[in-house]
Amino acid sequence: MKICRFNDNRIGVVRGDRIHDITPLFHPLGEPGWPYPPYDWIIGNFPRIEDQIETYLRHADTVRLSAAKLLAPVANPGKIIGAPINYRDHIDEANADQQIAHGKTFTTLEQFGLFIKAPTSLNGPEGIVEFPFPERRTDHEVELGVVIGRRAKKVSREKALDYVFGYCVALDMTVRGPEFAGFRKSADTFAVIGPWITTVDEIEDPNTLDLELTVNDAPRQKSNTQYLIYNVQHLIEYASAMYTLHPGDVIMTGTPAGVGPVTPGDVVKARVAGLGDLTVRMARS
Ligand code: MN
Repeated sequence: MKICRFNDNRIGVVRGDRIHDITPLFHPLGEPGWPYPPYDWIIGNFPRIEDQIETYLRHADTVRLSAAKLLAPVANPGKIIGAPINYRDHIDEANADQQIAHGKTFTTLEQFGLFIKAPTSLNGPEGIVEFPFPERRTDHEVELGVVIGRRAKKVSREKALDYVFGYCVALDMTVRGPEFAGFRKSADTFAVIGPWITTVDEIEDPNTLDLELTVNDAPRQKSNTQYLIYNVQHLIEYASAMYTLHPGDVIMTGTPAGVGPVTPGDVVKARVAGLGDLTVRMARS
């Protein structure tokens, strides 16, 4: 299934060119009081309504996909986890470009571990990406996004996919410079996910997906997740050794070569095969 969030925080199933509104299925569940749990309430409760969806779709309200305003498909990710250098060709381009390397030599992912993008950096389809420092180089990074479905702590890579809710296209927007990744990659609007979540059952192998990105329709990045150094299962094992993963947490799995600067007004289109197209526009200064 393709699960989206749209219009006024409605939850939908995308089928063809229509969105089927399944929001009422969540109404009987009641909502949590303060203090709120550290997970996304819709993703966390999805298993409780999943069996009712096919029956409900027979009489669900629908809207045309092209007429809906799509929102980031996870509203409240507890954390957005990034993998800094996870494709060989990106390590090589980073080492060859001092605007990226800043005197460092990149070798392996575990040299830097993972980083966290603040939940307040969340952005969605057709979103506007802002420039926190307009005078500094700001880059696009297309990535496969993994949405966690169940609480996961110290899971092995053999069991890792049991904890995945689904996949989406992700953009890890980045200011280049010497500061920590958690600063440069966490600006408001810098964590773009969408256009919806394709559930784990529809993707036979997340480590064989083509991904690409264009800026104003000019090709910039093109690769395949088979070149991930830490593949999806390995990243979940590694991340869950450090953090408890919760439903709705997002892992951005890393970017291949071809990263580069964006400028005001640019239109950035990111695509992962089978997961849809994600388009954002860079703010005009
Ligand atoms: Mn990245």
